[in-house]
Amino acid sequence: MLRGRIWKYTPNPLKYTPCETMTIRKIRLYPDPILRQKCRPVDLQEIETAYIQDLVNDMVKTMYHFEGTVGLAACQVGEPVRIFVMDSTAKTTRDRLKVLINPTINAQSQWKYSREGCLSFPDYIVTVKRARKMILSWHTPAGEQVEEDLRDFEAIIAQHEFDHLEGILFLDRIKNINTDLIIRSHQPEQAVITD
Ligand SMILES: [Zn+2]
Repeated sequence: MLRGRIWKYTPNPLKYTPCETMTIRKIRLYPDPILRQKCRPVDLQEIETAYIQDLVNDMVKTMYHFEGTVGLAACQVGEPVRIFVMDSTAKTTRDRLKVLINPTINAQSQWKYSREGCLSFPDYIVTVKRARKMILSWHTPAGEQVEEDLRDFEAIIAQHEFDHLEGILFLDRIKNINTDLIIRSHQPEQAVITD
């Protein structure tokens, strides 16, 4: 049986429902070596385990804890598995929550520039090229496989988080360090499309 502590995973996207057992986890900051690891896939049988269910619940709570944050990868909280969570509404309506286990990018198109922050780099904001449209498939915490067309802000968030699963950081995608890197005092995991 699936634990299903906070959600029945239909329909997708979800409305966030807090749960007492969820905890805010510590964010790993660059240059923590875990951010450079290629994360391992989650076995389908493993999805229902307490390890994975607790991890995704905690990741959701941790993402919403940080103001303006729209995505978080498992390696950013110290677990090198192929999971990320995202919600393009950040802290507003909290009704675009997605929990993606073993995501696969099936197509990408319409490349544009995106301005992004990252929780693991609190002092930087960068401009990188991302696809404005993508087709992504993944497993939900209930073990279901889903495929969706993501576009604009959601597509960009998903690409940033997917990179984390590969050990790729947004600094790796900068073309010109003089123009594409801005130092900020504080910037959450965030993305803004710029043409
Ligand atoms: Zn990031």
